[in-house]
Amino acid sequence: MRRDPLVIRISDDGFLVVKPQVIATIRANVGSRDGFTEAGGILIGSYRGSHIEIVDCTVPKPKDVRRRALFDRIDIGHQQAAMKAWLTSGKTDSYVGEWHTHPEDHPKHSSLDRRTWDGLMEKAREPLIFCIAGWQSTWWGVGHHGLRHLSRQGAGNSIG
Ligand SMILES: [Zn+2]
Repeated sequence: MRRDPLVIRISDDGFLVVKPQVIATIRANVGSRDGFTEAGGILIGSYRGSHIEIVDCTVPKPKDVRRRALFDRIDIGHQQAAMKAWLTSGKTDSYVGEWHTHPEDHPKHSSLDRRTWDGLMEKAREPLIFCIAGWQSTWWGVGHHGLRHLSRQGAGNSIG
């Protein structure tokens, strides 16, 4: 596992910082090529001025819908995890975005992903982080008045 956090510039004076264990959890949920079903969850962290720090994430829960090319995060456990983080962090950590996996080497968001994210962005006041993990790389983007690609990380770097 990588020891250093993932750091990606998100604006002139802002960075996205992702704890190594979050990267490891996401990468560990990318299924193998055979019998692949998508996984996903929410990203939990905090907004610090122009920076966003991701410290935790949820993983698939029993009521989520998981198919080869679909993940529908409908289990209430994700929201509950965000609420728990909010309460136990002294009201700093909460929902900051979404991650899911794709059966692709180098994932790109689908039109359904884009519609889902647009709906989330409409309701959010702060920027949201979106992450899609594939077999060979992980895609990172930020959504705030539109979607912007941030970075693509090689899977090898991410899992050390
Ligand atoms: Zn997708």
